[in-house]
Amino acid sequence: MPKDKEAGMAEDSGVPKEVERLAAQLAQPRAMRRASVSERWMKCSKTACGCGEQAEARHGPYYSVTWAEAGQTRSRLVSAEQAAVVQQQIEADREFRKAIAAYRKASERWADAQLAEIQDQAASTEAAKKGGSKRRWRRRSARKSGGS
Ligand SMILES: [Zn+2]
Repeated sequence: MPKDKEAGMAEDSGVPKEVERLAAQLAQPRAMRRASVSERWMKCSKTACGCGEQAEARHGPYYSVTWAEAGQTRSRLVSAEQAAVVQQQIEADREFRKAIAAYRKASERWADAQLAEIQDQAASTEAAKKGGSKRRWRRRSARKSGGS
């Protein structure tokens, strides 16, 4: 394998640096959730309380976490302190999903480079054999497509 030919693409391990970096990022354990948080101001049921008539008199803020589960929207109330943590968890999830997308792209480029390497090898072998291997390959592939 002429690894030195791919000097720009790969390290000694054969894994491109970008793929290695993103894989390490994805492997970082982080608590995450796919959800959203919103602030809620609630009405109570006490008739003496003005919250029923006046929006400013409503109670809160309460923090509501909303997420999708098995095709349903679910939510729960959390404290202000918990809401701050939930924000961080949501951000961690967003970063994780971005890292997955970047990892997929980088590893597809790597996958393409693997094919290009085989093509380059075939081309150089062909050049060395003065086109002999190319003709043989063409004949074989023609037979294959005729049979299927
Ligand atoms: Zn009230």
